[in-house]
Amino acid sequence: MNLDSPIQSISRLTPTYQKRLLKLGIKNLRDIFYHFPFRYEDFSKIKPIGELKLNETATIQGQITEIKNIKTWKKRMYITEAYIQDKTGVIKAIWFNQPYLTDTLKTGQTVSLSGKISFDKTLCLSNPAYEKMQKHGQLCHTGRLVAVYPETKGISSRWLRYIIKMLLPKFLSQIKDYLPLEIKKSQGLLDLSRAIEQIHFPKTIKHSEAARKRLVFDELFLIQLFVLQQKMKWRKNIAPNISFDQTLIKNFVESFPFKLTDAQRRSAWEILQDLDKSKPMNRLLEGDVGSGKTVVAAIAMLQATKAGWQAALMAPTEILAQQHFRELTKILINLDLSIGLLTGTETMAFSASEFKTTKKEDLLKDISTGKIQIVVGTHALIQKTVNFKKLALVVVDEQHRFGVAQRAALQKNIKKIEDGLTQTIPHLLSMTATPIPRTLALTIYGDLDISLLDELPKGRQEIITKIVAPIQRQQAYEFIRRQIKEGRQVFVICPRIEVSDKLQTENNNEPHLMINDNRSWDDVKAVKEEYEKLHKIIFPDLRINMLHGKLKSKEKEKTMLDFKNGKTDILVSTSVVEVGVDVPNATVIMIEGADRFGLAQLHQFRGRVGRGTHQSYCFLFSESSAKNTNARLKAIINCKNGFELAEKDLEIRGPGHFYGNQQWGLPDLSMASLADVALVKNVRQEAQKLITKDPELTAYPMLCEKIRQFQKDIHLE
Ligand code: ADP
Ligand code: MG
Repeated sequence: MNLDSPIQSISRLTPTYQKRLLKLGIKNLRDIFYHFPFRYEDFSKIKPIGELKLNETATIQGQITEIKNIKTWKKRMYITEAYIQDKTGVIKAIWFNQPYLTDTLKTGQTVSLSGKISFDKTLCLSNPAYEKMQKHGQLCHTGRLVAVYPETKGISSRWLRYIIKMLLPKFLSQIKDYLPLEIKKSQGLLDLSRAIEQIHFPKTIKHSEAARKRLVFDELFLIQLFVLQQKMKWRKNIAPNISFDQTLIKNFVESFPFKLTDAQRRSAWEILQDLDKSKPMNRLLEGDVGSGKTVVAAIAMLQATKAGWQAALMAPTEILAQQHFRELTKILINLDLSIGLLTGTETMAFSASEFKTTKKEDLLKDISTGKIQIVVGTHALIQKTVNFKKLALVVVDEQHRFGVAQRAALQKNIKKIEDGLTQTIPHLLSMTATPIPRTLALTIYGDLDISLLDELPKGRQEIITKIVAPIQRQQAYEFIRRQIKEGRQVFVICPRIEVSDKLQTENNNEPHLMINDNRSWDDVKAVKEEYEKLHKIIFPDLRINMLHGKLKSKEKEKTMLDFKNGKTDILVSTSVVEVGVDVPNATVIMIEGADRFGLAQLHQFRGRVGRGTHQSYCFLFSESSAKNTNARLKAIINCKNGFELAEKDLEIRGPGHFYGNQQWGLPDLSMASLADVALVKNVRQEAQKLITKDPELTAYPMLCEKIRQFQKDIHLE
């Protein structure tokens, strides 16, 4: 057996346990050792029984003088009661509902018990951790720092400690240290096997911290090496060299009803220069909500298509794809271009100033012959069935919806285009309104060049943001009514409702630390309830409609269009309106359960209003009175800048919660360390140094193997 052996080969594991381990993402032996604790219980204080004090956490060691099960009829519960004696005294210990304990612990045995000292007529230990003391054996669950792991039903921390303690000595020598010696030295890092041992069974907190430092370094380092290599690989490709046509772009920009901001000009210039090279661009256009990313993308797409190539624009949702399609056809109306819309459920084409619903096959054919020059769509665009004739530019909107894995998949799926003798690959432009904290920009987005739209178009008004207390709800409704009377429109956003789940209720572990988060959420239900309430009780006379992800694409589009065209007063919606949706006449956005959303997400919602000339408002409703929540909601009132908010969110809630329940596809340790800018920078430097010295890492075969394995672990393969 070796570290890669699947858990099925561990003879002592029953299939039931194997299944449970799989639930925790543990597939092989290595995974077991890499299942790290998230905290430690400090049971290291060993005390004589006679010196125990109420409420202290301590370990006692002594002999069992009596142990028995008592059945309490009233509560239908078993209580196991034991008396333990050392030279200084006797103490009672009780356990609830673990009658099988009397099979393990027997009178006369010497045991070690850890827990909090409580009071039941006399001092006692209630539900203490326990283990038998062996002559030369080391303690595992008591009398020391004890690891607490992410658990799942039927896999307790105690069981994990037991299994790790049993397996670790046999396989520790197989854990090969792939980190170059000079890096270990200069960074003051432990050997890998030592770190693994110490993270599970540390002697002191210092030891556990040293172990953690090494393991965090590894995760971040591997991500860095991966993105840097990815960047190198990408740049080895050949891309169409699209020369800058000054007259074309100048005329186009002058046709806008507004002046470009300096930031838009600069970003467009950076992009056009990238296109003018035969190395493929991989650039992120990052700009706050409303900073005007679409026109910048349109400039690039116009340049590409007028040079005889095709361009594609991908959006994360159908609504956004539809909106982009309409907007592009508007902006580009006088430029004689054919533009197609291709989503999972809808296909349309626009050419010679006319919209036409087309069959999917026909659109696909027109894309493959190059007749359609710009294609707007959802993910469906990068599916294998879509063949472009001469694709030179791919624009991905709202990039934060696409994690590391998706991005790598996108790059892999982009097909090379045979053009006579050369094979080319399109330029890639990603756009996001989600401000990325520096550490993320350096890790997950470390392979991208970045253009920043750090300036909003002139004359944008400030949106008045208020936290609404439950007693002010009525007032808020009256305010909304007045706004609608004046002809304005209103968004109401509902958070998702948690649907109770067996696993959740049976396991009283801190839920956010469970790896296998099996909670399911129902946003449709929340929207329907809110819609009923507003429609039947609060505003029976107003025109109210609802929008959620379960609607058919056609219905979604109609709902959005009706709202855009002023046929609806209030739109009740899930977070599907979060990104990009543009309705200038909407002046109020009311967010229910605001505490359930991330700051960056709330900021996105707020960006749905204030897009026209009218003063706009954002009302935050929250049921939670937790201090943290208030700090967060206050942050959004005081801070109008998405970048600052992002850093703040990271600070207050930690990276796990960043952007709501988004998954980044990163391991836990590195997620936790993303708040540390200095650390991330330092690791990036080390990775950069190594890659510069040895781009293919040929001198470091073990490291290469580890990167490959790491890619597999975060599903990049
Ligand atoms: P986002 O960056 O959030 O995607 P959009 O591209 O949707 O922003 O632009 C928001 C609105 O601002 C659009 O209606 C667009 O026409 C308008 N806009 C873009 N650039 C400017 C500008 N320089 N001055 C005024 N309005 C602009
Ligand atoms: Mg946008």
